[in-house]
Amino acid sequence: MSQKKPQTDTVRIQAEQTKFREHSVPLYLTSSFCYDNAEQMRAVFADEEEGFIYSRFSNPNAQELIDKMCSLEGAEAGFATATGMATVYASIAAIVGNGDHVLACRSIFGSTHTLFTKIFPRFGITHTYVDANKPETWEAEIKPNTKMIFVETPSNPGLDIIDLEWLGKLAEKHNLILNVDNCFATPLLQKPIEFGAHLVTHSGTKWMDGQGRVMGGVVVGKQELIDEIYTFCRSTGPAISPFNAWVLSKSLETLEVRLDRHCENALTLANCLEHHPEVQNVRYPGLMSHPQYDIAQKQMKKGGGLITFEVKGGLEQGKRFLDNLTMCSLTANLGDSRTIATHPASTTHAKLSEEERQAVGITPGLVRISVGLENIADIISDIEQALGKSK
Ligand SMILES: *Cc1c(COP(=O)(O)O)cnc(C)c1O
Repeated sequence: MSQKKPQTDTVRIQAEQTKFREHSVPLYLTSSFCYDNAEQMRAVFADEEEGFIYSRFSNPNAQELIDKMCSLEGAEAGFATATGMATVYASIAAIVGNGDHVLACRSIFGSTHTLFTKIFPRFGITHTYVDANKPETWEAEIKPNTKMIFVETPSNPGLDIIDLEWLGKLAEKHNLILNVDNCFATPLLQKPIEFGAHLVTHSGTKWMDGQGRVMGGVVVGKQELIDEIYTFCRSTGPAISPFNAWVLSKSLETLEVRLDRHCENALTLANCLEHHPEVQNVRYPGLMSHPQYDIAQKQMKKGGGLITFEVKGGLEQGKRFLDNLTMCSLTANLGDSRTIATHPASTTHAKLSEEERQAVGITPGLVRISVGLENIADIISDIEQALGKSK
């Protein structure tokens, strides 16, 4: 399997650069790969020789993205998919099966919640949700058939933080596979494998792309688990397109400098909102007022680029705030160079019941801001003028 020895693939790409001496890795828009003879073809198919076969299995652009993510996360191997959800799905469905149980944090991405509540039960996979704010209750929920712990930290959109050091030890004690959705932090702010995670999932669509262009997902982790995921994906077919992998791979080159600016802008905005008379409360992992600020300090380099807050008054005032924004975009994405405002209760988490939303802190007036790369003075000025008109 080509992803076992990533360096070999890099050498392969380098070798192919001799004719045009291109500086940037080219785009390999090809569905399959050729061989010198039948014996070589047999050997590559039998995993006896390194080489690509078919872009549903792997492709030089996908492999480059995987190799970069493995080195950033400190992982042994990985697989890249067409979307973040294909990654989340494969990272669970390839590992757990009929009769298995997953312990998951309740505050979770809307589509992941649908997987747990609507899709997995059809295959005999059950789950129990646990509360990020009550870690002392988790151990009692582990059953004899529990196989995996799946968490998001920081969570979308609640921005709950789970202590990864503690969780890594809990997973080890009970011999469970720890799967962390690291989409909000990215490997530059947080490396779950250092704390004992066995799998780390990402939506490449968010901070990784960073400019709202392409979709993609990457899972990295232990070789034996990635082998299972590879086998599952090779036959179920969620592979990333070479073009999207190429874009994401290039984007990783600038992720660090972009994140620095996103985090700096977010912290400044969060401080400003915390003292604003029209704001009920602000949640940002980099603010001392965040209930898990100490844990965030311990495991994250910076607070990230997302802030949530409650406009005073509730739903009507929250909507009025969104309607009055002039620069910030109203859109569902996050992790973009442009500042984005979203109303989770009516969009990303609309499929949850009112009770389910309440349980994860999505109040009717909650607004989520993905803080962009614009000059912070312009971001603050747009948000302040809209808050002024929200009354
Ligand atoms: C967006 C998101 C996903 C899903 O990614 P897509 O690329 O939209 O499929 C999964 N987890 C989290 C935390 C996300 O924010």
